[in-house]
Amino acid sequence: MCLFCDIIEGKIPSTKVYEDDKVFCFNDINPAAPVHVLVVPKKHFDDIRDIASADDGQEYLGAVAKAINVIAEDKGLGSGFRVINNCGEDGGQTVMHVHFHVLGGVKLNEKIL
Ligand code: 5GP
Ligand code: ZN
Repeated sequence: MCLFCDIIEGKIPSTKVYEDDKVFCFNDINPAAPVHVLVVPKKHFDDIRDIASADDGQEYLGAVAKAINVIAEDKGLGSGFRVINNCGEDGGQTVMHVHFHVLGGVKLNEKIL
């Protein structure tokens, strides 16, 4: 069982923001900013290492980049936003289905680099 696979399949409800044939995007249940959307490949990859090494990984990464830009435009994030991918245990990943956080709607100050 994978939480995000269940959300993609509609078995667990979510607030959808954007969808195409490769990605499903929905609001984070515990938002860290006024806009906090999760961009999730519809195919299950554990993390970004898994997606990068897959034959079709580039297609999914391209779809992720497109989705990020559509969301940023739709949400009015023209003055900027941040994309975060937590990878693996040391990266603080808690859901083991690769996803990208899109954060914005406020000036983000909590930079670590
Ligand atoms: P990670 O810590 O793996 O980078 O991010 C996982 C994210 O998934 C967290 O920001 C968390 O709030 C979000 N999340 C966990 N469970 C659910 C859920 O059931 N629904 C939604 N929409 N987000 C969830
Ligand atoms: Zn999954």
